[in-house]
Amino acid sequence: VRRNPGEAEFHQSVREVLDSVVPALERHPEYAEAKIIERICEPERQIIFRVPWEDDRGEVHINRGFRVEFNSALGPYKGGLRFHPSVYLGIVKFLGFEQLFKNALTGMPIGGGKGGSDFDPKGRSDREVMRFCQSFMTELYRHIGEYTDVPAGDIGVGGREIGYLFGQYKRITNRYESGVLTGKGLSYGGAQVRLEATGYGAVFFAEEMLRADGGDSLDGKRVVVSGSGNVAIYAIEKVHQLGGTVVACSDSSGYIHDDKGINVDVLKQVKEVRRARIDEYVDARRHATFVAGRPVWDVPCQVAIPCATQNELTAADALTLIAGGCTIVVEGANMPTTPEAVRGFAEAGVRFAPGKAANAGGVAASALEMQQNASRDSWTFTHSEQRLREIMRTIHARCHATADEYGMPGNYVAGANIEGFRLVAEAMLAHGLI
Ligand code: NDP
Repeated sequence: VRRNPGEAEFHQSVREVLDSVVPALERHPEYAEAKIIERICEPERQIIFRVPWEDDRGEVHINRGFRVEFNSALGPYKGGLRFHPSVYLGIVKFLGFEQLFKNALTGMPIGGGKGGSDFDPKGRSDREVMRFCQSFMTELYRHIGEYTDVPAGDIGVGGREIGYLFGQYKRITNRYESGVLTGKGLSYGGAQVRLEATGYGAVFFAEEMLRADGGDSLDGKRVVVSGSGNVAIYAIEKVHQLGGTVVACSDSSGYIHDDKGINVDVLKQVKEVRRARIDEYVDARRHATFVAGRPVWDVPCQVAIPCATQNELTAADALTLIAGGCTIVVEGANMPTTPEAVRGFAEAGVRFAPGKAANAGGVAASALEMQQNASRDSWTFTHSEQRLREIMRTIHARCHATADEYGMPGNYVAGANIEGFRLVAEAMLAHGLI
């Protein structure tokens, strides 16, 4: 805390990992001897830069850009860019720290990194977003590359932003280096299922948890999802394909409740096409209701999938969910559940999957995009979804088996943290003191 003052989210994520890896450290004294903990908590490189840009009226704005290259023990740095006014070093470091264990769990050769800016794309025209992205890449380009660091999207960075970033990278470097960014459009090197992968992957993970717990499934289950962005939309789509019903979702203005099941086409039209507020959903679905300023967790459900942002599900929300009959919580977002809420779920016997395991489908699909770019290949949707499903099954199995091995059956937090940590630590030991 003294070394990294004021970085509350980073401290929270480090504490959560360190609390669970104690048993692994006891079994592996070589980790402590090599000071793996101290080294793993210190990013390999942190880049902070000025991003000047001009809005449509000619007014100049200055934002701050970040790229934290956290750990490259397993491969090139890999992780998204977030554009949101709340972004500061503590958020980028927390996300980068989570990312390195998540990437390890995928079994793919990728290290951990994260970046972004305090730029707020909300209400900005396409041209303003383009000018911002061009300015951002004019500094970032010198730090990234297919073999060094491969950014992707996150909150506020979707297909539009990745397109502008890629265009500027190509223009500055005079290289058509497809593998420098993932989440690209299908017309210029993107991969099938990358768009859907994080949401679909979280739902596949939920299916695995239910299956491991007596052969249950999502079929017929009532589900609530928070958020209505990339992760949330495709989590809802997959729940419906598997026979469950998502009855509510949200954005930062409030939530919508549609007891007949959220209509994904209408939701996509409102959030992806019109980039509007979620209350407009009710204009097309008159029987649904919009509730302003309340958490979506007020709506009773059996399965909860938080897909919005960090610390959005509090201890009070956990009690509401438990009282409403919720028995399984799967994090689609990064660290959406506060530590107090996680404890509440554990005490009530609610099964809980942490984001670093459950939302790893996005980065896994990004690694598949890198693979396709490297071999100048492109796979079908069906094949790509099959690969994603297998990867999620393997991540679930690894977390489950590690929790068993350490005498904490069903504890996915311990399973994911210990397994992710062990994989990174072994590679760091092999590389010597660097
Ligand atoms: P998007 O920007 O597409 O969507 C974010 C959604 O969350 C929006 O509905 C947004 O509402 C809502 N939201 C954001 N901040 C808040 C807040 N403070 N309070 C309430 N709601 C909020 O982002 P993604 O879907 O890509 O990302 C969502 C989460 O998933 C993040 O935690 C991200 O790190 C994580 N994640 C994403 C991956 C990906 O592949 N995209 C991969 C792995 C994890 P509004 O429109 O009102 O801002």
